[in-house]
Amino acid sequence: MERVFSFPRIGKHTEVFKKLLESFGLNVIAPPPITERTIKLGVKHSADMMCYPFKVTLGNFIEAIEQGANCLIMYDSRGKCRLRHYWILQELILRNIGYEFRMHPLSLKNLLRHIKQLNPDLSCLTIFQKVREGWKNLKDVESSSFYRIKDGVNIGIVGEIYTCLEPAVNLSIEKKLKKLGVNVHNTVRLSDFIRASTRTNFLKKKMYKKEAKKYLNGPLGGHGFENLYNALYLCDKGVDGIIHLLPLTCMPETTIEPQLNKICVDHNVPLLRLMIDETNSEVNFDTRIETFAELIKRRKK
Ligand code: SF4
Repeated sequence: MERVFSFPRIGKHTEVFKKLLESFGLNVIAPPPITERTIKLGVKHSADMMCYPFKVTLGNFIEAIEQGANCLIMYDSRGKCRLRHYWILQELILRNIGYEFRMHPLSLKNLLRHIKQLNPDLSCLTIFQKVREGWKNLKDVESSSFYRIKDGVNIGIVGEIYTCLEPAVNLSIEKKLKKLGVNVHNTVRLSDFIRASTRTNFLKKKMYKKEAKKYLNGPLGGHGFENLYNALYLCDKGVDGIIHLLPLTCMPETTIEPQLNKICVDHNVPLLRLMIDETNSEVNFDTRIETFAELIKRRKK
């Protein structure tokens, strides 16, 4: 049977991943855009208290299988939070529902070996070249992770990576804030996450990382540590407000709440925390961000 690969959507990076996988000679379909149905499917088959990105990506997989995918690729973070276990749990759930497919967990540490398994005809040099091309494409769709304050109101975003990167999950918060006349700086970058996982970014924002370490008692997992040093960075740059986006029950993000509050109080920067899950009402969400933006505009005047 012909192998048809798919993977969970991740905002504007979805096309980058599709192209990268295709460059390895794989037959790939991107999962359909995330809709209410995607979310309902994921929620129906997940544990209630499981994190929201798990539910959404599970819904993605179900819809991808319905469209003909029979090989699923899931990122294995090998990290310290639940993301590490997503693929194994999702495989179990999907099999229990009755789907037949193969799960391929991809981790950065074993990327070369995994790709060789998917397509044994590829040489290591070709894989390296394709990955480099994919990296370039990824950087092209990202804006700079360094920030310069612009005229007007400036709001920085920190938070859980999937929630910050997938507009269907964060209800297009960046677009909405821009419509309200706000300059938005989303500090969450997939390239930073990859660099952190491969330990190749230790010099970037070094002094903020040093400061952020004082707030923790060791590694935290997820994007917790990154959000602390990015919050320090945003405060130092002089943003007018910070929005913290997190899925309800997210372990690293709930852990850093008191530290993030303190950083914002110490720097006199207003903080809005938005917890996101399937029960969110978009009207309520919009009202909260509109009020926050309005308060900051008045405060600035
Ligand atoms: S960072 Fe949070 S939301 Fe993401 S997998 Fe870990 S616990 Fe779940």
